[in-house]
Amino acid sequence: MHLSRPAQKSADMASFQQPTGSSQQTEADQHLLLEWIDSHAHLQSNPYTQDLAEVLARSRTAGVQTVLLPGTDLEDSQTAIDLALRYPGQGLVASVGVHPHDAKSLTPDGLRQLRQLAIQHRGHPVVAIGEIGLDYHYDFSPRDVQRDVFRSQLELAQELDLPVIIHDREATADCLAVIAEVAARQPLREVPGVFHCYSGSIETAAILLKNGFYLGFDGPITFKNARKALEVIAACPHDRLVLETDSPYLTPIPYRGHRNTPEYIPLIGAKIADIWGCDLAAVAAQTTANARKLFGLGLSLP
Ligand SMILES: [Zn+2]
Ligand SMILES: [Zn+2]
Repeated sequence: MHLSRPAQKSADMASFQQPTGSSQQTEADQHLLLEWIDSHAHLQSNPYTQDLAEVLARSRTAGVQTVLLPGTDLEDSQTAIDLALRYPGQGLVASVGVHPHDAKSLTPDGLRQLRQLAIQHRGHPVVAIGEIGLDYHYDFSPRDVQRDVFRSQLELAQELDLPVIIHDREATADCLAVIAEVAARQPLREVPGVFHCYSGSIETAAILLKNGFYLGFDGPITFKNARKALEVIAACPHDRLVLETDSPYLTPIPYRGHRNTPEYIPLIGAKIADIWGCDLAAVAAQTTANARKLFGLGLSLP
């Protein structure tokens, strides 16, 4: 999602508690055997500077073996790469990209640097271009600039044969128009990318799925007022859905209001299991396989 630069919230962090309660111990033990992927977590942002090693350790204990750090501008993308390289063996991968909010700050030279960054680290740890797209809700950058920057980065993804992570807020028609424009010059790759934090209609989802895109779902599907997303999830082919926390935002129930972390991925998975009418292990296996295919992640990770 990426609303704005998150502020330090040390008080929040200090009050953060691990779930306790022995009644769910057996179930919890089973869950520890599951393997999950958080395909979208901004762990390179401020809220984690004090305790990132602990956040990563807790996430792995919860079964989250891989976390993708999406870049939101040039500097943030570089930080995501640095972080992934600084914690080898922790399953961190990254994407580089300029978020629509920051589109107005991208210069031609910045775009060249982004390209260099992607080329230099392609495959390890850079597995995608993102997050890129259009946000007409906040309009932090002029819409024509957003479209230009989105188009340039879609072309970069095509040049490097990488999937894209798309942020689309109230701009689906224009997102599709820009994608179609780029695809008219060079067809999309077989696995083109993901519409992250999908919140659109079932009809739009059908169009995206038909074009090969995956859909990413986050904490809000656990909220009481969630309706539309649940219908989309019920109708979504099981092999096209990925899980993401969008940490530090969008914390699922029952931790809403606290800082989000990848360790809560199983809570989102549990909601999917509920909707699909299958067990948690099936959701873990399926969504992990989906994220691996989407981002070309091998079995042995950095
Ligand atoms: Zn986003
Ligand atoms: Zn995000």
